[in-house]
Amino acid sequence: MKDYFAALDKLRSNGHLFACPCSRKELATGKHKYSCLQGKVSFDAENVAWRVNTRDLEPITIPDLIQREGFTVDLHQAMPDFAVRRKDGRPAYQPACVVDDVLFSINTVGRGQDLLPSTAAQAVLSKWMGFGDLFERISFVHHPLVTGTDGAKLSKSAGKTEGPIIGTSVQPADFSDLLTGWLAIP
Ligand SMILES: [Zn+2]
Repeated sequence: MKDYFAALDKLRSNGHLFACPCSRKELATGKHKYSCLQGKVSFDAENVAWRVNTRDLEPITIPDLIQREGFTVDLHQAMPDFAVRRKDGRPAYQPACVVDDVLFSINTVGRGQDLLPSTAAQAVLSKWMGFGDLFERISFVHHPLVTGTDGAKLSKSAGKTEGPIIGTSVQPADFSDLLTGWLAIP
């Protein structure tokens, strides 16, 4: 846990964060209710989340092993003011993921394209937390989502419990190239 908190302290001291007591419902209006963005709320107050002010971030280009031209994510649009520390004081998913990847020396990640905003957020945090360029450390594949016959995401969260599976746009040859690369098959 101490690695997570050290990373959060670093983010806080770099001036990229603000403290925010707003509820999900209040944030759904698109505005902060307590002058959070102006730094009016103490980081040490009870029941506040620590968030990144995403307004000034440039769009982030994500290199990808399959999609050669990569992906571009506007974080302010995709994940406005994402949290790095939850209201209960625990680290949020994005910084925890960056710290874990460093601790476990992860160098390849495959995830769905629905998680592109997470990759973008982690790229920003990696630099700010002093872990360097995420894309020099990790190669990414963002695969299309596997969908059911109705085109909806095939997942338990979407209430799906069985196939059939169709709808991926990646060609088998691309997967074969990728696996060959990963396994270092000549
Ligand atoms: Zn707020």
